[in-house]
Amino acid sequence: MKNVTNIFLIIAVISLLSCKKEQGDHNEVIDSSGFVEEYDDIERIEPSNWWVGFKNPKLELLVKDDHISDATPEISYQGVSIDKVHKADSPNYLFIDLLISESAKPGKFNITFKFENGEEKKQTYELKSREKSAEEYVGFDSSDVVYLITPDRFANANPKNDTYPYLKETDVNRSLDFSRHGGDIKGITAHLDYIEEMGFTAIWPSPLLINDMPKWSYHGYAMTDFYQVDPRFGTLQEYRELADKARSKGMKLIMDQVANHCGLEHWWMKDLPFKDWVNHQQKFENNEKVSYSTHRRTANQDIYASQIDKNGMTDGWFVDAMPDLNQRNPFMANYIIQNSIWWIENLGLGGIRQDTYPYPDKDFMSNWAAAIMKEYQNFSIVGEEWSYNPLLIAYWQEGANNKDGYDSNLKSTMDFAMQSLIVQAISEEENWNSGLVKIYEGLANDFVYPSPKDIMVFPDNHDMDRVFTQFKENIANTKMGLSYLLVLPRIPQLYYGTEILMQNSAKPGDHGLIRTDFPGGWEGDPVNAFTGEGLSDEQKDMQSYLKKILNYRKNSKAIHEGKTVHFAPVNGVYVLFRILDEEIVVHVLNKNENPVDLDLKRFEEVGLEGKTLKNIISGEEVIWKDSLKLNGKGSIILTTKI
Ligand code: CA
Repeated sequence: MKNVTNIFLIIAVISLLSCKKEQGDHNEVIDSSGFVEEYDDIERIEPSNWWVGFKNPKLELLVKDDHISDATPEISYQGVSIDKVHKADSPNYLFIDLLISESAKPGKFNITFKFENGEEKKQTYELKSREKSAEEYVGFDSSDVVYLITPDRFANANPKNDTYPYLKETDVNRSLDFSRHGGDIKGITAHLDYIEEMGFTAIWPSPLLINDMPKWSYHGYAMTDFYQVDPRFGTLQEYRELADKARSKGMKLIMDQVANHCGLEHWWMKDLPFKDWVNHQQKFENNEKVSYSTHRRTANQDIYASQIDKNGMTDGWFVDAMPDLNQRNPFMANYIIQNSIWWIENLGLGGIRQDTYPYPDKDFMSNWAAAIMKEYQNFSIVGEEWSYNPLLIAYWQEGANNKDGYDSNLKSTMDFAMQSLIVQAISEEENWNSGLVKIYEGLANDFVYPSPKDIMVFPDNHDMDRVFTQFKENIANTKMGLSYLLVLPRIPQLYYGTEILMQNSAKPGDHGLIRTDFPGGWEGDPVNAFTGEGLSDEQKDMQSYLKKILNYRKNSKAIHEGKTVHFAPVNGVYVLFRILDEEIVVHVLNKNENPVDLDLKRFEEVGLEGKTLKNIISGEEVIWKDSLKLNGKGSIILTTKI
């Protein structure tokens, strides 16, 4: 079991030790340059490494090995001490609370596990130095537009990693909606230039951690090891390369994390550390049917909710293949928090998207976000609450004046309400209560949000019909919806393929089809959307349309943080302004089929009279005086920035 990595290291350690003693140091068996006699006796220790220099000096190690609870761990390393050792319910776990003082230096040390019978096991552990300061972990904000990617379906840069015989799902079949298609991390990295040129400033790939599940493992939300990249997506090194390359382009990498559940094939499901590690654990261990979440998410806020409804919402399993983690177990709570920090630090992340936000224990989620934001004050987290009710969206955003005193510590929530209203507003007949008034009044709900510009808005995502399908494949309507969304005081997110009119109209609601392969991501694809080869004129037009808006938006302070003023829709025309100093952006939605001369008198308070504005799509210039000619149904974006 003893694994001496290099005999020369021993000699080096001995010589260094004598050197150290002369300098009056403690007699630690290692030094900060990393030379250490390394051991790997323990089956699993998590997190597998840590860093020095965090504000929180505590680290809790999960140690898993046969009857490890019979052992007493010892550490001899300056600045690191064992605060407490906890036995679990299973004899095969120990939880070790370490204190890492400010004086601790980066380096490796051994944890010695001493058994009563005199046996010893040793495990080498590493404390690394942090690669950059905490302030440099800057999260996404309203200056960003996020490109959401389903990695299995975006680009396959390495066909050799498509399948592994030791994993449970071995099929790769691009003709099946729910099979794996082979896309990978390298595929995203290889196309960062395309994403950047389109004008996106952040990427959110759906989860890349291992899902060793027997089927549907491509989506990534049933993780079977929270510390391992799925080899079908690539390696940790490739994930880091993606992060580094994105960062070098000024793009932010957002990691999709799941605190609510794991996959049924998660390694710990065969030997759970505590009796309450997952909810409904006893039923699961007795092979009985577990309870599922009621998915009645309002139970989190409802002042009349019964206890059974509250528990049913948060403790039920999401689906039968996804056990519900019990974040009220303090060891689980630490595990999830440390796991998030491990990934932020390892990848230099520019944000986290947290899945199924209202499903875990909400007090834990508040502590989780607080623990992260304490270490990375410029970071961003967006939580997924699938609700069309602005009151619920507001409840989860930090700073909300909630009656129950709840503060989520969560910077960003998701605007499903606006997503839905945009489609209604543009698709419906104009009337007193229908059509454009839906977004006019929907945006008026911003008064309830602690910070509207930090909320993420999107036309669709990986769980919803493609926006082009939602708009019944009407290009003009789709453009109207997308352009409006991109000028709102929000953080916009678009799903990969929106720019080439990807749709799932043949099978609405079909997740596999929604997550169609991006053309050109696979060698031999007849159409290549990265180069434009084989795209229809309509697809090319949408690509160029979005490219223009996104690239304008990239440098538009008025859109990022300007004041918003909008005017009630009249006769099928709705106008919204974003204003910051000299930059004024005008967005006009016109639902009239025929040309309209828009009387500008009503907009006098904005102060545009006599100014020259440029249409950011056509490049045409107009003088804002008396009236503005609108050429039939559609949207225009004008700017004073010429
Ligand atoms: Ca591949």
